[in-house]
Amino acid sequence: MSRTLFPVKHSFLILLTALSSVATSAYGHEERPNVIVIFCDDLGYGDLGCFGHPTIRTPNIDRMAREGQRWTQFYAAAPVCTPSRAGLQTGRYPVRSGMCGFGYRVLFPDSKGGLPQSEITIARMLKDAGYSTHAVGKWHLGHLPEFLPTSHGYDTYFGIPYSNDMDTSKNAPPWKAQFADPKSEYWNVPLMRGESIIERPADQTTITERYTQETINLIRRKRKQPFFIYLAHNLPHVPLFVSKPFEDVSIRGLYGDVIEEIDASTGRILNALRDEGIAEDTLVVFTSDNGPWHMYRQQGGSAGLLRDAKGSTWEGGMREPTVFWWPGHIKPAVIMEVGSTLDLLPTFAGICDARLPSDRTIDGINLKEVLLHGEGDGRRELVYYHGDEVFALREGPFKAHFKTKTEFVGQQDPVVHDPPLLFNLQHDPAEKYDIASAHPKVVERLLARKRAHEAGVTKVPNQLILR
Ligand code: MG
Repeated sequence: MSRTLFPVKHSFLILLTALSSVATSAYGHEERPNVIVIFCDDLGYGDLGCFGHPTIRTPNIDRMAREGQRWTQFYAAAPVCTPSRAGLQTGRYPVRSGMCGFGYRVLFPDSKGGLPQSEITIARMLKDAGYSTHAVGKWHLGHLPEFLPTSHGYDTYFGIPYSNDMDTSKNAPPWKAQFADPKSEYWNVPLMRGESIIERPADQTTITERYTQETINLIRRKRKQPFFIYLAHNLPHVPLFVSKPFEDVSIRGLYGDVIEEIDASTGRILNALRDEGIAEDTLVVFTSDNGPWHMYRQQGGSAGLLRDAKGSTWEGGMREPTVFWWPGHIKPAVIMEVGSTLDLLPTFAGICDARLPSDRTIDGINLKEVLLHGEGDGRRELVYYHGDEVFALREGPFKAHFKTKTEFVGQQDPVVHDPPLLFNLQHDPAEKYDIASAHPKVVERLLARKRAHEAGVTKVPNQLILR
């Protein structure tokens, strides 16, 4: 705090500090907040009512956003599932754990690799701090026993260990027909409890409902001990499934039905917290792993005004509709600071009084001050990886593209940009107007930042190519 502040401002800051200590005083060593992360699969930036979708109704998430913080510039760690999840769990760019690559961009049912034991997940960090830890839903960081959630700090696991479109059954119809009228039996995906398969193929029509009920059961059972629940929905990743009560409820069609079921699920979870009297003791984060899958046209979602989609380092591939909720603690606001799923681990360390790993690079930052006071410094640097290569870098409002590759549709080669493209994302979030020639010094600085970042990365074995 500066010593030269005017008295009025000084008094204001003292008041702010006092209020903040009142707000956080309940969370010392004895009593710390529960944490729930609700993580969707392939939800687009424009797919929620509170992020501007005109025909999908999401009243529960909209209310969550009004009561909490709606982040307009929040990013996934990567534009596809496996590396994005590795980044969230570890607070580190997935290149540091070997969980990204070009040939294979995600793990598959025949993969032998996974998140290495040497990595420290959010669950392991919070378990060491005395939390009970639970993973519900899609994992996709390795399905062999040594890579499952229960080997990575989670006390319990209930879910499908990879994407819901993997392991196509021999009797499934041709590709287009599979997705036009999906049936659970077309994909031989397992549903697991702990390390055991309890259902195969998993009945996907009830999967969102069952994940929701599991989460509510955990809330009710574990409320005397601080808990961390990672609820990673398999949907709205295609193939799309909904339970009976949500069939044909949305004028957006089947994709809208799926989102409205996830919205209702979110409402039930927040209501369970209210019913148990622990809403003010629980931080809930809602976000997604990557942008919408445009390859599936109307069965995929919408990135809204952002350019491109899943698989791409344009904004539509990585910027996610994100809400933080913690009644009585978070300052309700629309937040335009830059945040990332990489920030969840250090943020939870700060809020839950857990020990941040100090023997390795953590790429995320602690967002606690923004959550409590609604203000940050606006200078966040963000690196956009395609596979294990830096394709773009953001610093403040500026983003430079060194390479681009359009959405996840085929095998076209990346386009190299030398000099890089430059966009001001605050003026031009749709990345329409290249302003590199007017800002040569900014381009130079972002190139230097890219080189400095790359110099700090030690390459490790690629887990995605192991068979
Ligand atoms: Mg995904």
